[in-house]
Amino acid sequence: MVESRSKIFVIAGPSGVGKGTLVTELTKRSDAIWVSISATTRAPRPGEIDGVSYFFVSDEEFDRLVDSGQMLEWAIVHGSARYGTPRGPVEEAVASGKIAILEIDLAGARQVRQSAPEATQIFIAPPSSEELERRLRGRGTETPEQIERRLQTARVELEAEGEFDVVVVNDSVNRATDELLQIIGISR
Ligand code: 5GP
Repeated sequence: MVESRSKIFVIAGPSGVGKGTLVTELTKRSDAIWVSISATTRAPRPGEIDGVSYFFVSDEEFDRLVDSGQMLEWAIVHGSARYGTPRGPVEEAVASGKIAILEIDLAGARQVRQSAPEATQIFIAPPSSEELERRLRGRGTETPEQIERRLQTARVELEAEGEFDVVVVNDSVNRATDELLQIIGISR
C-alpha cells in the first residue's frame, strides 16, 4: 500500500469512472479533506450552484485568470469548455493544514506534475472498460453526441494509467474510499 506525506492529491481517471462520488465520500469521512472548486466556462447543469459545483465564468474571466497566473492548471475538456484549478485556494488550504483534493482531467494532471510536483497523482480505474461504457451511457445527463465524445476521451484516458503514482480500482465505493483514505494517510 502506497502512503504519502504530500498534502495535494490529484484524482484523475476516465469520465464516468465515479471520481465525483469517491471525492464526495472522502469529504464525508474526514474533515481534514478540502476539495478544490474548479472554474469552468461550461454552462451550469440543472441543480448546479455557482461557487459550490464550480465557479461558472465567462471566456473573458477565464482568460483573465489564466493570464494573471491564477490557475494551477487548466485544460479544454471533451473538446468544448475550459476547466481550471484556481491556485490561491489550494495554497490556502494546504497552509491551513488541510489535505487538498484536485479532481481534474488527464491534461490537468500532467500540468500539476510540473506546477506542483510534490502532489500525489491517483488514477481511478474502472473494474473493466465494458463497465465504464455502461456507466457512461447510463448517466442520462448528456446527449448521444456528448456521450460519444466522452467515450472517446475515456478510451484515451484509460491508456494513461501508467503515468500515475497509484491506481485505485472503483469496484465498490466503500472499498475504494477506504483505499483512498489509506493512500492519503488518514487513519480512521
Ligand atoms: P463535468 O463537465 O462533467 O462537470 O466535468 C468534466 C470533466 O472535467 C471532469 O471529469 C474532470 O475530469 C474535468 N475537470 C473538472 N474540473 C477540472 C479542472 O479544474 N481542471 C481540469 N484540467 N479538468 C477538470
